[in-house]
Amino acid sequence: MGQARILDGKALAEQIRGEVADGVRKLKEGGARIPGLGVVLVGDNPASRAYVTMKGKACQAAGFHSVQMDLPEQTTQEELLAKVRELNADEAIHGVLVQLPLPPQIDEMAVVRSILPEKDVDGLHPVNAGNLVIGLPGFAPCTPLGVCELLTRTGIETKGCFTVIIGRSNLVGKPLALLLSRKGKGADATVCMCHSRTQDLADIARRADILIAAMGRAHFVTADMIKPGATVIDVGINRVEDPSAKRGYRLVGDVDYEAAVQVAGAITPVPGGVGPLTIAMLLRNTLESARAAAGLPSAVTHNGG
Ligand code: NAP
Repeated sequence: MGQARILDGKALAEQIRGEVADGVRKLKEGGARIPGLGVVLVGDNPASRAYVTMKGKACQAAGFHSVQMDLPEQTTQEELLAKVRELNADEAIHGVLVQLPLPPQIDEMAVVRSILPEKDVDGLHPVNAGNLVIGLPGFAPCTPLGVCELLTRTGIETKGCFTVIIGRSNLVGKPLALLLSRKGKGADATVCMCHSRTQDLADIARRADILIAAMGRAHFVTADMIKPGATVIDVGINRVEDPSAKRGYRLVGDVDYEAAVQVAGAITPVPGGVGPLTIAMLLRNTLESARAAAGLPSAVTHNGG
């Protein structure tokens, strides 16, 4: 086999962010409020802080109004819920996001439930999860939306394709299975969702036309688990020690990329694959929320989201 086609998520994310910035300009021209995103960070987890900083910068670049609330590690659940209520009530805010994970004294689901579903741009509220299950409009989580967008925009056919997703989390695997098994363009896939109890995982993976790894296990998917010519989407982000790297570690996916690239037909790199699309979809969800608040129809026309 030759070298797989590399699916450049970074370039696609740039394109989507440009489209979102255009959407913001149109809202402004029409006299509507610009989209506003409120992000709450509890504690000082370096990875969480890095994500929140990236989101803030992306908001600025897209012309959004953005608010960041930094709360100490010892914040109580009631204090956090009060901040969410504040953002829920703020008309300039169309998306509310509480960066996860949260410290142990806080019940994450109670916090997710406290976000107004129409401002839940992370798509984690049970109302949005339920809407996704039965095919009603609502917000889907950003990473699975990003995967769908990547497949659609790179012209990878999903219709009727045997698609294996390794991972069943509420954040990635499960919503992705629902999105890809919907009817319509960029969907209509035959989805098999696998997890840590799945038997004969390698055999199942080897049958996939589209293989999606979302498990959080560095280099778990080896070349012999990939059907020659298959599309491989690597959602995983794992830190592996690397004394030669600036921070002493580097980021790798769930797929053994160097070997997989020789077998797959198309593949996403890590970094630069699915990751950048997650933030782009967060911006797009927030723009959609602002459009809805202004009484405007959705600007998303295809089934990628
Ligand atoms: P998670 O909640 O830990 O879920 C991992 C899933 O993988 C679980 O369903 C688990 O099965 C399954 N799994 C773990 N080990 C397995 C094994 N040996 N064989 C088969 N299945 C196995 O993780 P997540 O939040 O979904 O995230 C998954 C990965 O995506 C992580 O690396 C995360 O960093 C990354 N991620 C990336 C982005 C992005 O923007 N690119 C966004 C979110 C997450 P069980 O259910 O049986 O335990």
